Amino acid sequence: MKNHVATRFSGIKESATYAVLELVRELRAQGLPVLDLGGGEPDFATPRHIVAEANLALDEGFTHYSPSRGLPELLTAISRKLAEDNGIEADPAEGVIVTPSAKHALFITLMTLLDPGDELLVPTPSWVSYQSMAHLAGARPVAVPLGADDGFRITRKALEGQLSPRTKALLVNSPNNPTGRTLDAQEARVIADFVQEHELFAVADEIYEKIRYAGAPHLSIAALPGCAERTVTVNGFSKGYAMTGWRLGYAAGPARIMTEMLKVQQHSVGCAGSFVQRGGLAALTGPQEPVAEMAAAYTRRMELITDGLNSLPGVGCARPSGGFYAFPDIRGTGFASSEAFAGWLLREAHVAVMPGTAFGPGGEGHIRLSFATSEAVIEEALGRMAKALATAPRP
Ligand code: PMP
Ligand code: GLU
Repeated sequence: MKNHVATRFSGIKESATYAVLELVRELRAQGLPVLDLGGGEPDFATPRHIVAEANLALDEGFTHYSPSRGLPELLTAISRKLAEDNGIEADPAEGVIVTPSAKHALFITLMTLLDPGDELLVPTPSWVSYQSMAHLAGARPVAVPLGADDGFRITRKALEGQLSPRTKALLVNSPNNPTGRTLDAQEARVIADFVQEHELFAVADEIYEKIRYAGAPHLSIAALPGCAERTVTVNGFSKGYAMTGWRLGYAAGPARIMTEMLKVQQHSVGCAGSFVQRGGLAALTGPQEPVAEMAAAYTRRMELITDGLNSLPGVGCARPSGGFYAFPDIRGTGFASSEAFAGWLLREAHVAVMPGTAFGPGGEGHIRLSFATSEAVIEEALGRMAKALATAPRP
């Protein structure tokens, strides 16, 4: 028997977000009063009408495989949503695939687009899984470091700085995890020109689309002139509809890409859960008030947490325009690294946050706090942080 596992896993780190989610669970099991601002997951329950539809589906015995691409009614609802909300034309018969999670949609997108040795440009700081997914596809993720000083704006200079003959695709996440930035019109133009000039694919992760502040618009790359034919849009139900545990997402793009991607779906997972998809259908076609109510709650929490962070000594936090993460600059606190700060905060104040380094180049000097949690928890966490910064011994 050969005694080593596949080498493509070497160099791939455990998901930092899952590591924190699990650490919090462990510490709580030991009885520690940990406040979790680490992993990003809505605290809201899934809206009742969505749960009711999935329950009905189960009661009806709707428990078999669905078509690999997804339930036809859901594909149609997604296609309509993309047209109405995003200005994206996606053919429900050939241009959309329903996946068990946006994460899986991203995974099969990268498996479909990237050959071994290809390079995927990922503006950083970025969500923890993109780079590892590119590695799993045998490709090379290439960070495009963005600067905190101009609010992590994507510029032509930054993109061109990392371009090579092997560059195959650009991945853009807006609203952004962890920076909270949403694309503005100028950045969108830069991205559209860049991918066309260099004949690249674009992957647009729009999972936080429903959560935006101060009237920030949501710009979809696939809707920009000349981009539809080269862009895969990924979205899902986890964040906007508070459906993380359901594992439901989708990818949409040109038929020539989606036809290949369907094979990856067929041979990896088959299809998303059938009754889960019925819940997704209710989410898209039912009342949208619960989404608006959650977005309003996130707005209050965003103001509370950014104001609170800005009142802490050595901490500076810009207001995010989307998503549910605050990404403050903590360099003024005097800690040697964001990891040292996050570790100290967990030990001294029992407040879990993510160190900025988990999000790649550009993340150092920052921490990420998820405010997908109640105002009471946010207030308590801010209080504990203030007290620890004033009194707790430093490492
Ligand atoms: N993209 C980003 C930026 C995320 O933060 C997440 C959250 N896990 C996902 C994709 C995946 O979402 P899910 O798999 O729950 O649909
Ligand atoms: N997206 C969330 C986060 O960034 C959940 C964990 C994950 O899927 O990585 O914390």
